[in-house]
Amino acid sequence: MAEQSAASARVSSDEMYDVVVVGAGFAGMYLLHRLRGLGLSVRVYEQGSGVGGTWYWNRYPGARCDVESMQYSYSFDEQLQQEWNWSERYAPQPEILKYANHVADRFNLRGDIQFDTTVKAAAFDDSNNLWSVTLGGGKRVDARTFILATGCLSNARMPDFKGLGSFRGKTYHTGHWPHEEVDFTGLRVGVIGTGSSAIQSIPLIAEQASQLYVFQRTPNFSVPAHNEPLSDEKRNEWKANYPALRHRARWESRNGIVNPMPQKGVLDDTPEDRQREFEKGWQRGGIAFMVTYNNIVLDKASNDTVSDFVRDKIAGVVEDPSIAKLLQPNNHPIGTKRICVDTDYYQTFNRNNVELVDIRALQIEEVTPDGIKVNGREYEVDAIVFATGFDAMTGSVAKIDIRGHGNVTLNQKWAEGPKTYLGLMTASFPNMFIITGPGSPSVLSNMIVSIEQHVDWITDCLAYMRKSGLDRIEPLKDAEDKWVAHVNEVASGTLYPQANSWYMGANIPGKPQIFMPYIGGVGVYRQICVDVAAKGYEGFALSSRQTAASVAAE
Ligand code: FAD
Ligand code: NAP
Repeated sequence: MAEQSAASARVSSDEMYDVVVVGAGFAGMYLLHRLRGLGLSVRVYEQGSGVGGTWYWNRYPGARCDVESMQYSYSFDEQLQQEWNWSERYAPQPEILKYANHVADRFNLRGDIQFDTTVKAAAFDDSNNLWSVTLGGGKRVDARTFILATGCLSNARMPDFKGLGSFRGKTYHTGHWPHEEVDFTGLRVGVIGTGSSAIQSIPLIAEQASQLYVFQRTPNFSVPAHNEPLSDEKRNEWKANYPALRHRARWESRNGIVNPMPQKGVLDDTPEDRQREFEKGWQRGGIAFMVTYNNIVLDKASNDTVSDFVRDKIAGVVEDPSIAKLLQPNNHPIGTKRICVDTDYYQTFNRNNVELVDIRALQIEEVTPDGIKVNGREYEVDAIVFATGFDAMTGSVAKIDIRGHGNVTLNQKWAEGPKTYLGLMTASFPNMFIITGPGSPSVLSNMIVSIEQHVDWITDCLAYMRKSGLDRIEPLKDAEDKWVAHVNEVASGTLYPQANSWYMGANIPGKPQIFMPYIGGVGVYRQICVDVAAKGYEGFALSSRQTAASVAAE
């Protein structure tokens, strides 16, 4: 039905759409579905050859979600959430990709998605109130609304090591993994990085490789996943209670995940009680460990006790005390970098074929034809895995030459850090929306919850504009400035800014260091967005083209 109305609403020229969406991950897919429901003509451009975004690109061994699958899934369609059966507590990447493809088929999405197409540029034309979008190859299309569903972790970052091009073996990036199976059996492998992607892949690569070198610059805190097959009983319990549980995730949780909500701070308990609670959290596993108490990322003394607990756990698993010491994080409070979730990560360092190479003080000097050189020693390898992360939150947006009012580029506007109103729009770039943009809960949350919230808000906004005869929306500079100040103020009340994290842009040389996501909590944020809309889109300037033209002429 929705597809028919979209087709009939399409303007005769293929070059003109009501909405152009960049990206066909979970955000772009749901956008397409909702916008079609409004009867709008929508074109989604995706540089990959299929849907799924993150789950299309990140095919490395061990890739899986770290938010439990019963929660890391769409909630917008009751039948969809009832009919899909996750097999494990944390589904592996192939299953999540299968789910994305299932959704694309079920809602007939592919017809309006153009794959293998990169959006290179987009310029707002004030005179006709249209975005002119340039695709790879030079073709241009026009759109009334331009939406960036480009993903927060979609611009894989490859360090520029001296000699990289000379390496004779194979190189891989976890965020850009080949589609065909990669077999490391009998090979000497180097993994660079020890973030979430490395921590998931290292145990599996170690099982295949004859020798594995792990090049670690900064150790990270990791909590056991305790992954397991999902029982029918557990699955059915979730399905039976979905309405209430999804509501809790959206409105009552801080991070879009239904978890215990402790009322106590760490130091409210005696050391013995605290130890017992930490142990319970550890046995529960996953990121829920971080909500054992309510102030772990707020109070340094409290955080220290949790960090010590995890450091002790590492020492308890890793047999060689000198290796255990290297693996114990000590330069950031636990939780201020994304907590990692693993299966047998620390145990892997007890294997004879695994060597941890500490590169904190002695950086990688160069990549040679035969391996990786650190402090004069060459580690000979047949393959190098770069688990070196992403230019997060702004990286994929920055790759597009986006121009708003006065031909000013978004990169110029964001030169000192991203500025948005609600993480949804940025002043001087009318009719351009961002899904899970900087300034929204985004990467601090169950991303599907945040994606659905943004898509729903934007869809409602576009419906309101149509109904009201309006065709231009952009944030007021004052509202944007106040929101940016609020985002910073909330972050500064936490321990997060103490870490050199990708949340801060600290992993990219030269990137301005600003805490990018909004840490006020998804429920609080959702309410703010609802209130803004209820007050006639407070903080936004809405107009019709004629009004805008007359204002411009004054
Ligand atoms: P993406 O999935 O990143 O999709 C964006 C798409 O836009 C990509 O396919 C990209 O190719 C395309 N694109 C970008 N620029 C252009 C352009 N110029 N032209 C054309 N196409 C373009 N979040 C969680 O909440 N829970 C998890 O357990 C979790 N696990 C993760 C595991 C990994 C390995 C990674 C990397 C991230 C994980 N995340 C997780 C975050 C994850 O990115 C989000 O959950 C979610 O999948 C993002 O969906 P999206 O559609 O917003 O972006
Ligand atoms: P990441 O957390 O940014 O980790 C990158 C790693 O590479 C870090 O250890 C970093 O060290 C290292 N590194 C980068 N450049 C280097 C260099 N030049 N020399 C040496 N080491 C270098 O990236 P990621 O592991 O891909 O994870 C990114 C995010 O994606 C996660 O935080 C999470 O949100 C998401 N993710 C989730 C899962 C999941 O469990 N579901 C899995 C993977 C990813 P420094 O810390 O010293 O910079």
